[in-house]
Amino acid sequence: MPRQRPYSYLTHLECSRCQRRHDADVLQNLSSCCLAPLLARYDLNAVATDLNATDIADRPKTLWRYHELLPVRDPRFIRGFAEGMTPLLPLERLGGQIGVPRLVVKDEAPLPTGSFKARGAAVGVARAAELGVERLAMPTNGNAGAAWAAYTARSGIEATVVMPADAPSITRSEAVFAGADVTLVNGLISDAGRMVAELVAGGGFFDASTLKEPYRIEGKKTMGLEIVEQLGWRVPDVIVYPTGGGVGLIGIYKALRELQAIGWIGAAMPRLVSVQAAGCDPIVRAFDRGEDDVQAQSDTHTVAFGINVPSPLGGRLVLEAVRATNGVAVSVSDEDLLSYLRRCAATEGLLPCPEGAATLAAVAALRQQDWIADNEEVVVLNTGAGNKYAEAIEVDLPTHERDASLLRNR
Ligand SMILES: *Cc1c(COP(=O)(O)O)cnc(C)c1O
Repeated sequence: MPRQRPYSYLTHLECSRCQRRHDADVLQNLSSCCLAPLLARYDLNAVATDLNATDIADRPKTLWRYHELLPVRDPRFIRGFAEGMTPLLPLERLGGQIGVPRLVVKDEAPLPTGSFKARGAAVGVARAAELGVERLAMPTNGNAGAAWAAYTARSGIEATVVMPADAPSITRSEAVFAGADVTLVNGLISDAGRMVAELVAGGGFFDASTLKEPYRIEGKKTMGLEIVEQLGWRVPDVIVYPTGGGVGLIGIYKALRELQAIGWIGAAMPRLVSVQAAGCDPIVRAFDRGEDDVQAQSDTHTVAFGINVPSPLGGRLVLEAVRATNGVAVSVSDEDLLSYLRRCAATEGLLPCPEGAATLAAVAALRQQDWIADNEEVVVLNTGAGNKYAEAIEVDLPTHERDASLLRNR
């Protein structure tokens, strides 16, 4: 009788520092050996034997189409919103203007709660439910809190969310309406993280902080899987990612390596670009200094709230991914990213989030420096919907009396 194929080919968790194996079927946070992030590992030989890229094509258009490479063993724990398979859209007009005619955006705005954080929450919450979590806590810059609140509500898990008071206000509302216990802090996400760590130390909560929880990255990895599938199982020349905690970039890199291991793509890798805001660029600084570890920054600030992460736990892994692919880490000013936000909306009708706009500003700068050549295919990640950032995109217009002649006289 043929062996029954498992839904997930997850085998274990691996310490990202010393490669020691850890049990994937009990709750884990950082590795007990090195206090480093744990990475999910799969039986990739078996995946290569059991599955072809063409098998995927007929599956529902959600991120669960890659379930063999995701950690949830029993699909009954998946209670999401059919999330994933966001569009890959050419930006011909804007690309033409900045000298990158093959500019493409992976637009994450259509995801539930309006950002790619839904991917991490979909997978992270389903796996937490499978492992018996009833209450969890996490710091957030807003979007992750909104996403995790929505998914935990659907799974019947209680969520405690701590976010900076000046995070986009809509994310606060989203989390509160989804029933999360939300605390605002006068500080940065790192301050929120310290509060969560104290709460968790007291017992009763699972710590779902970025990279202290091993499965959110698996959800974010699906951005990389989708980009490759949507290009016809082919990689682009460059992928540009707005980096805060760095999970998305680490995830995309992990996806590419796994696809190589199962033979669905060849040895060529896209160059991975980590974009940060000039007001918060600890990864760029470490990259420029040639260092492996990222130094924490203080008093960071940027309108691109999702990438205001002064002390990213995964910094080391981001640097590894960027260097291993001959990529680069660059920062852009708020002024520049806001100007590309407007330009993208005006030329393409797509209102990116400030983080997504940062990738466009970076592409323009890298093209000017000839780091990107004019015939290269460049995929940027628009990690969320611009309309979540009401405070950042406010416009002042006068209100008129009801007199149609005003319109004719303009
Ligand atoms: C969280 C967030 C980011 C940064 O994501 P990481 O994967 O943690 O680096 C970028 N953009 C938006 C809109 C975000 O919410």
